[in-house]
Amino acid sequence: MTNQLPEWSAPYCELSEGIFYQKVSPVPLVDPCWVDINRALAIEINSPIDSTDQKILQAFSGGEPLPEWSPVAQVYSGHQFGHWAGQLGDGRGLYLGVSGGYEWHLKGGGHTPYSRSGDGRSVLRSAIREYLGSEYINALGIPSTRALALVTSDTPVQRETMERGASLMRLAKSHLRIGHFENFYHRQDYGRLREIIEFAIHQLDPDLAGLPDRVEQTFQRYLERSAQLIGHWMAVGFVHGVMNTDNTALSGETLDYGPYGFLTSYRDDYVINHTDHMGRYAYGQQPRVMHWNMSCLAETLTPFVCVDTLRAALDRFPGLYQTAYRTQMANRLAIETDNEALADIIQAVKDVCKTPGIYYPEIFSYLLREDWMGLSQPLKGLEVFQQLQSQWSSEVSKDLVQEARAAAPSWMLSYWLLDRVIRAAEGGDFTPIRSLREALNRGISGECQSAKDLGGSPPATDSAYHLSCSS
Ligand code: AMP
Ligand code: MG
Repeated sequence: MTNQLPEWSAPYCELSEGIFYQKVSPVPLVDPCWVDINRALAIEINSPIDSTDQKILQAFSGGEPLPEWSPVAQVYSGHQFGHWAGQLGDGRGLYLGVSGGYEWHLKGGGHTPYSRSGDGRSVLRSAIREYLGSEYINALGIPSTRALALVTSDTPVQRETMERGASLMRLAKSHLRIGHFENFYHRQDYGRLREIIEFAIHQLDPDLAGLPDRVEQTFQRYLERSAQLIGHWMAVGFVHGVMNTDNTALSGETLDYGPYGFLTSYRDDYVINHTDHMGRYAYGQQPRVMHWNMSCLAETLTPFVCVDTLRAALDRFPGLYQTAYRTQMANRLAIETDNEALADIIQAVKDVCKTPGIYYPEIFSYLLREDWMGLSQPLKGLEVFQQLQSQWSSEVSKDLVQEARAAAPSWMLSYWLLDRVIRAAEGGDFTPIRSLREALNRGISGECQSAKDLGGSPPATDSAYHLSCSS
């Protein structure tokens, strides 16, 4: 792989060592083996991975890094569940540099100076959830980190029970989080704060570099990107589960897949994270939480932009979000955004999906593809669905249907499907994860027999399903 990489750079490492990051030597996993390599992504970034090359397998599992890598752990802070959590940082992840237009990040490569009491490891269960979750969100056309390769090993890792250790090669346009700014703001180190802000502008909004009001303008971009992201999540029924400011990317990418999930029936109060007793990160709270996160971000900019300006910008967020959500729903339903019936149809979609046993993410395929048989079998017989269908049919725009069909998921990344994939992998069978990833490479609307087989029969009840943060 070494000679095949056209370009490799590490711009983050041009910042001061010991201030913004620490150099780290990864700690190898024992007896690593490939779970999967995301071939389509590897080709896309012009980085074919030779699965027979032991040096590459070792490097991807925390062994000797490839010569072009610059492994460092980044420091950041954050608000967790609404409370200031102080310094966090890459406790089990390493920035390796940039290639193929993405930052490479090895997750699960062992202890770092920011591990605190953690072991620096990832377990196979959570690594699979991130691997498939991020590729699924990407296939839905939503900005996300990507998953390049997944390795497991015999290294035992203690969580609630003993589990298998794993490492994930994650790619992102940028791993900068709100927490990167918060870290220096809360130390009142405004010189370093300014440095990381300027770095972020160069990375994410280079067209603003050099403008006198670039900090204010870059904040407007953060607002716009995060409103877009939440509009996407809400439209597809994605629940992130742990929207702390250290898990919120400045790039507007979905970042840090932990206890995430998709709505089954439509419920604003749907909580997936079992440590979230107050429902702070419930599905319906996500726009409000992102607005709150943006206020944390705005605070970090107060040394450089006047408060009234920041406040006025922040006040734009609800409107930006509403527009983004409406646009996303219009696109997914193949209805013109200025159609006056759109709001009613969106409400009807929600009402239909409140019926237990009707899976929200399937509704788009049901409307757009007459031949499609999803899990929500009782749907067709429902009177409210028939009403929705007739209302929708009279408003749908023929010109938009093809694109909407291609964006409509033909299968759902349900927690029960993921559980079955994880169980197979823990038993040494990687066929399911590979076939799902291959299906995602072909597109979200394509038929996928493995998804049908694995996701076919949901458990009798899902109302009490919660996921642990322990990953
Ligand atoms: P997360 O909830 O995964 O976003 O992690 C929150 C913080 O805890 C981040 O700073 C992580 O790097 C750190 N962390 C999570 N899990 C571990 C672990 N197993 N070992 C060390 N640090 C961890
Ligand atoms: Mg995190």
